[in-house]
Amino acid sequence: MPEPLALAVDLGGTELRAAAVAPGGRILTEAGTPTDAMAGPERVIDQIVALLADARSRVPDLEILGLGIGAPGPLDPIAGISIAPPTLRGWHDVPLAAILRDRLGLPVRLENDANAAALGEWRYGAGRGLASIVFVTVSTGIGGGVVADGRILHGRRGLAAEIGHMTITESGGRCFCGAVGCFEAVASGSALGWSATKATSPGDGSRLRALSADGAVTARHVADAAREGDRQALALLAEEARWLGIGFTNLLHLYSPEAIVVGGGLSVALDLMAADIARTITERAMPAYRDVPVVAAGLGRHAGLVGAASLVLEAN
Ligand SMILES: [Zn+2]
Repeated sequence: MPEPLALAVDLGGTELRAAAVAPGGRILTEAGTPTDAMAGPERVIDQIVALLADARSRVPDLEILGLGIGAPGPLDPIAGISIAPPTLRGWHDVPLAAILRDRLGLPVRLENDANAAALGEWRYGAGRGLASIVFVTVSTGIGGGVVADGRILHGRRGLAAEIGHMTITESGGRCFCGAVGCFEAVASGSALGWSATKATSPGDGSRLRALSADGAVTARHVADAAREGDRQALALLAEEARWLGIGFTNLLHLYSPEAIVVGGGLSVALDLMAADIARTITERAMPAYRDVPVVAAGLGRHAGLVGAASLVLEAN
């Protein structure tokens, strides 16, 4: 008798992905499509149903326990309601779990996308076997999730662990949330790209502008140039690592995780930043918190999908 499966959806503002996932987080079939984010919830829900029908048709004889969804916040994971995600037009208090339960005839669990990725890394990835981790994704923005004492930390209305918007300085540019000095505003991949763009100019002969074809410099260009040994890129990455180290120090003091797991686009450069991050933590963290490893995520873009599946596969 084969083990039962879960269906999983990773609903992003850009891409929608669905999968059938076996126990242990093994993806059996996966498909994606661009999210019709401007067309309103009815259209996107139709997209979800179509992708799931396709996934189901590829595993026809297997028992399906239910569906787990990772979706952009804010959302209420208990009620299964998408509150008002900024990346999806027209979504206001959409009872997504109930709608899909009725259409699919399956139990449905909804979770914040960052929390879903944290669950994936904790149960099947870099945090496996640990009781407490903080997952931090550093890409366009900074997001994350906290697993504390063996469960995801939800807080009031499921809004806990908005890591990117903790204030860590009084200066710097304005965050998209409206505040100044957010972790995300100074340490995201976007922030690194802006710093690199400001530090260079078209035609200046820098390696960064060569890689960007004299356009705006991105975090990826900085990482690539740094890996080649470019001094300017290495200095920018050292500054990035210092901000990450400051933010991580706060997370160590707040949550005392057994590991900080770093995902997102900029995690490809984690090895280049590791020494500077560790130095900053050593300078700033109290001694009892200093020896916690900062490790790269293990599941890449699959973390959210398998984490969503785990909402159904794992009993809690
Ligand atoms: Zn902010």
